[in-house]
Amino acid sequence: MDALTAAKKPTARRHVKPKPEPAPCPTCKGTGEVSRTVHVGRKRRMVGQQTGLCLACLGSGQAPTD
Ligand SMILES: [Zn+2]
Repeated sequence: MDALTAAKKPTARRHVKPKPEPAPCPTCKGTGEVSRTVHVGRKRRMVGQQTGLCLACLGSGQAPTD
């Protein structure tokens, strides 16, 4: 073992890059849910809105990345 090796300082802690924030899903605005209108009956009467899983991000609320 030579002097250089012995005197080697412990390496400085590397800065860990923070993960970039995932972009919110444009379809559900990051909520993971989308509201859809519910119709019932033969006349297709509108009874209100129901939330459903966002199919663009599959409920994660994050824009899909490929
Ligand atoms: Zn979504």
